[in-house]
Amino acid sequence: YHADTHAISYTTLASFPPVKLLTPTERKRILVTGGAGFVGSHLVDRLMLLGHEVTVLDNFFTGSKTTVSHWVGHPNFELIRHDVVEPFMIECDQIYHLACPASPPHYQFNPVKTVKTSFMGTLNMLGLAKRTKARFLISSTSEVYGDPEVHPQTEEYWGHVNPIGPRACYDEGKRVAETLTYGFKSQDGVDVRVARIFNTYGPRMNPYDGRVVSNFILQALKGEDITVYGDGSQTRSFQYIHDLIDGLIALMNSEETRPVNIGNNAEFTIGDFAHYVRDIVEKVLAQDGDKRERTSQIVYKDIPQDDPQQRKPDTTRAKEVLDWQPRWTVDMGLEEMVRYYKAKMAEGSL
Ligand code: NAD
Ligand code: UDP
Repeated sequence: YHADTHAISYTTLASFPPVKLLTPTERKRILVTGGAGFVGSHLVDRLMLLGHEVTVLDNFFTGSKTTVSHWVGHPNFELIRHDVVEPFMIECDQIYHLACPASPPHYQFNPVKTVKTSFMGTLNMLGLAKRTKARFLISSTSEVYGDPEVHPQTEEYWGHVNPIGPRACYDEGKRVAETLTYGFKSQDGVDVRVARIFNTYGPRMNPYDGRVVSNFILQALKGEDITVYGDGSQTRSFQYIHDLIDGLIALMNSEETRPVNIGNNAEFTIGDFAHYVRDIVEKVLAQDGDKRERTSQIVYKDIPQDDPQQRKPDTTRAKEVLDWQPRWTVDMGLEEMVRYYKAKMAEGSL
């Protein structure tokens, strides 16, 4: 900026990451709802790098403009503040419908709104897909299996969900969103894809959204108590974000219209996971020359109501129909995530 002439110095304007050049027929117009959230922003990065035109719709309830700010101004990118509970008109070829808060404290903050987002938001986006003939993918969840009596969970399992419990707004919201999706497929011929996503973690996860991976890493980095809810015997299986993005794009571009589980089957009890995360954080700190003594203790708190006792995906279908399987081990993913939060803490933004 030249103060005397009030002109911008064009030589110092930010440049964008290099995107692939596609022919007009290869380049798709892709709508990503919830694209400013954790999963959405990583998906946007990948779709942009692949050379597509990407429009993000987000109401910034749990997402943030900063997750995609590095694309703002790129000719292939557009960011629009919009609540999917209201209809939206655009021309597009593919819709990744992700808009919905995903962590229990966020989706329980306003349960009625969560159900509206899942039901009305999905209805609106399916209506858009019907008019534009766009292919529609919804990010469903392992929560449709509830507190499962079948282990590991296959796509054939119908689930075990408390319809009036504190998790119901999310679980039943996603179940009805799936029902709507298949209703539009059979009634109107909408071309649909359904991804049932299992617990996913990685950089850009909101550090204060209360999910277990972010809580444990931050607690260990800050030397605070690591809070295990219940006796820690409940299990979860953790997938790294880049594997999920591979799976979502593979599913969108496949011919598979049945639901597909996307997750990592590395299953931990939450009690073991607390030790595991603490060890990795201490390893990273030691590698970086930080010689602090172990300060984090593992403590036990009340378990939230209806917390599922076990969860592990059967990913046979994803392997067979998408030739997809996770490539990131939990060690690799956690280490990268620890370094990300550590860097954020060092720059004072955490
Ligand atoms: P997130 O909370 O980081 O992102 C959700 C995004 O949707 C945010 O940017 C939020 O502002 C936006 N949003 C919420 N309500 C909206 C509305 N009414 N209108 C417009 N935008 C709205 O969560 P995430 O982890 O990125 O999850 C993304 C999707 O993946 C969700 O549909 C979630 O159910 C699904 N999913 C995530 C996980 C996981 O482990 N992260 C697991 C299963 C399913
Ligand atoms: N959990 C925990 N301590 C925390 C946060 C979560 O023990 O600080 C537990 C939680 O009770 C659940 C598991 O970790 O059993 C995963 O919780 P999260 O909210 O990440 O995901 P979800 O329950 O939706 O799978």
